Amino acid sequence: MLKIYNTLGRELQEFEPIELGKVSFYHCGPTVYWVQHIGNMRAMTLADLVRRSLMYMDYEVKMARNYTDVGHLTDDGDEGEDKMAKGAERENLTPQQIADKYIKLFNQDITALNTIMPEATPRATEYIQPMIDVVQVLLDKGYAYATPKAVYFDVSKFDNYTALSGQKLDQNIQDAGKAEVSDPDKKHPADFSVWFFKTGKHENAIQYWESPFESSAVENGEGFPGWHLECSVMANAELGKTIDIHMGGIEHIPVHHPNEIAQSEAANDQTFVNYWLHNEHLLVDGGKMAKSEGTSYTLEDITEKGYDPLVLRYFFMQAHYRSKQNFTWEAMDAAQTAYQRMLNRVRELYLKSGEQELAKVSAKYKAGFVEGLEDDFNVPHSLAIAWDLLKDKGIEDDAKLATILDFDRVLGLELESKTNNPQTADEVPDAAQELLKEREQARAEKDWAKSDEIRDRLLKEFSVIVKDTSDGPKTAIGG
Ligand code: AMP
Ligand code: ZN
Repeated sequence: MLKIYNTLGRELQEFEPIELGKVSFYHCGPTVYWVQHIGNMRAMTLADLVRRSLMYMDYEVKMARNYTDVGHLTDDGDEGEDKMAKGAERENLTPQQIADKYIKLFNQDITALNTIMPEATPRATEYIQPMIDVVQVLLDKGYAYATPKAVYFDVSKFDNYTALSGQKLDQNIQDAGKAEVSDPDKKHPADFSVWFFKTGKHENAIQYWESPFESSAVENGEGFPGWHLECSVMANAELGKTIDIHMGGIEHIPVHHPNEIAQSEAANDQTFVNYWLHNEHLLVDGGKMAKSEGTSYTLEDITEKGYDPLVLRYFFMQAHYRSKQNFTWEAMDAAQTAYQRMLNRVRELYLKSGEQELAKVSAKYKAGFVEGLEDDFNVPHSLAIAWDLLKDKGIEDDAKLATILDFDRVLGLELESKTNNPQTADEVPDAAQELLKEREQARAEKDWAKSDEIRDRLLKEFSVIVKDTSDGPKTAIGG
């Protein structure tokens, strides 16, 4: 039985999907105005691990992740600049071009990390009309009011606004509205904008649409939607009015997600989300990632140093999603060694099991693996089970191979494609051929220490695995 830690209620709860065997899953996506850093990549990988775990448990998953391409201000409250406008200005491109560029880069990165593409990837600017419709419903129902500057959601009208955050409203005010509120007509500092009119500091907004909302400051209700509203509307449009699982970073607990709940439930009169999951952040060298400190690494920074992106994926799997994780280059090296070792083991299993049909998955190890996943997606535990399996001398090689490949449906380490490519001795590089000859000489002289040492060098320097068989040494190379 799958148990999930639900931020709403702050406890482990048994998972009961709305529809038997199916899961609808919404993940707050990136604001596509800049290259995403490895903290963002951690968030994407963790969501992928949740989705792959659900699939492994035989749920049919429909996942949606949005691209925020308008309306996300540099501050989660209603202050600050529009991030897209900032990006456009920085690069002298239109917001549309900025969005296209960074969506492409984002998708390259998450693909390199072997995450499965969500079934739906809505773009905020393609849902403007449904957003306007929801704002109208909120106005009609008395949950929202317009000032000359914006249409606000009135948090005092919504019971339990702080249910998710668990905060007192005063605390929310500090988080949401900051100390200064630039609109004197706003009724409560925690009220948040669902529609910004193209006026005041947004007078020169480059992305705006006409709306039926009235403001003395603009014609035809011109403006743009608030970021919080966008997620509610896209989630409802893609997955229905009540969703099984919604995931995002912990920074969304105080403002963004309570706002999503308030708008959706006020508009639809039904529960928005049954299970709220929040992932902790990635730190670098023990601190917050910061561009100014040069610690806001991107995936490109990682691959430029020669790491396979899947080493980063392996690294992310070593920490639970609700724990902070600290990135260091030493930790990357350790992950690389571990991943390489895993590949080598699997490669050996391929060598030993030859062309035989895949054997049965070990029921004992599968049970242990699933137990980890069912315990609030404890992937580090399941990864440890995968290692126990690989080290277990009591399991037949064929069964071991079948089982580890089955686990890779969740791990996503491309164990098969990276290892099932045995090559003949002729394809071994010349320098390695020399070492192989030296090793044969050492073996002939029964110098086992030297022979082992060369075998280690072949593996480390050339990724060449040597297996001694009754027909003499056999070699394989891996990626
Ligand atoms: P943004 O583009 O800023 O909206 O962020 C996109 C996603 O990355 C959000 O789900 C954030 O929660 C997540 N995120 C941002 N910084 C970090 C971090 N340091 N560690 C993990 N996730 C992060
Ligand atoms: Zn969101």
